[in-house]
Amino acid sequence: MRIHGLIDPHVHMREPGATHKEDWASGTAAALGGGFTQVLAMPNTDPPVVDRTSLDQALKLASLGARCDYALYLGAGPDNLSLTAELAEGTAGLKLYLDQTYGPLRLDEMSLWQAHFTAWPKTRHLVAHAEGRTLAAAILVAALTDRPLHLAHVATREEILLVRAAKEQGLKVTCEVTPHHLFLTRDDLPGGRGEVRPQLGSRADVDALWANLDVIDCFATDHAPHTAAEKASANPPPGFPGLETALPLLLTAVHAGRLTLDDVLTRMDTNVRRIFNLPAQPATWVELDLDKVHTLTAQGMHSKAGWTPFEGWQVRGAVQKVVLRGQTVFKDGQVLAPPRFGQNIRAR
Ligand SMILES: [Zn+2]
Repeated sequence: MRIHGLIDPHVHMREPGATHKEDWASGTAAALGGGFTQVLAMPNTDPPVVDRTSLDQALKLASLGARCDYALYLGAGPDNLSLTAELAEGTAGLKLYLDQTYGPLRLDEMSLWQAHFTAWPKTRHLVAHAEGRTLAAAILVAALTDRPLHLAHVATREEILLVRAAKEQGLKVTCEVTPHHLFLTRDDLPGGRGEVRPQLGSRADVDALWANLDVIDCFATDHAPHTAAEKASANPPPGFPGLETALPLLLTAVHAGRLTLDDVLTRMDTNVRRIFNLPAQPATWVELDLDKVHTLTAQGMHSKAGWTPFEGWQVRGAVQKVVLRGQTVFKDGQVLAPPRFGQNIRAR
């Protein structure tokens, strides 16, 4: 069957700064293999995307490498409050790291959150990494500033119930959940491989996400590749690759009757397009073999990560072919689009 190209609103391409983990060419090859024709990339690269210079550098690298269409988030930092408004139109949105992360993008002071929410133009969206009680604080600041807020990777029972309560009050919040938080508990992946932020939840957390599917607006992979050697090291970095496993896992859940195909497509296409104000892609589609039974394995995947938390899982449903702007860009496991084929969604 034929579906629209999928959109992933949350990926980490690792370029610039850590291209041994992923780069634009490999990450967007993984995207096409997973049925995604548009990706929105996070700003926590090295250097982070926080000003004109770093945004231009990241956009240049993306234009040289990307095989599918893309846009880049700007990161909200302690020092770039006066810059964000003029850069907004050329970005996917503004990403705010409100806790539990690394590097220079963490915003500790809540008065600064409010200033960033207010300064950011209404034509582009705000996305927050906010876990636990920080999520409650982020929702409050969105309400106080009357700004719609998208909550990245909601992962626990208390978080999804809070999102439900906020929506029931009419607050303008949307949220995404990752496949790994829907399909894995913290007991499934012991050791360094299981390191991810937000951490994997308990069985009760996973059950609560499924029970509250109606308040989940998007499925986002939070594709955050690290190499197998890094994950096996004494200090394993948090993050999983996810672009090439998301759709087969969700299609398998459709077969199991846990949700419908329409539930999946709404959350990986329609809702993402609406929330982030993304254009339709002409002559673009994905052909699926809904009944193909296969085993997920990192061998043959296109990400540089070289491993997957779902190694050995038997799934039902596969991407056969991807057509982007009239060109066949993926077919029978082979990526056919060259680097530079992808276009910047936000280019004028
Ligand atoms: Zn992320």
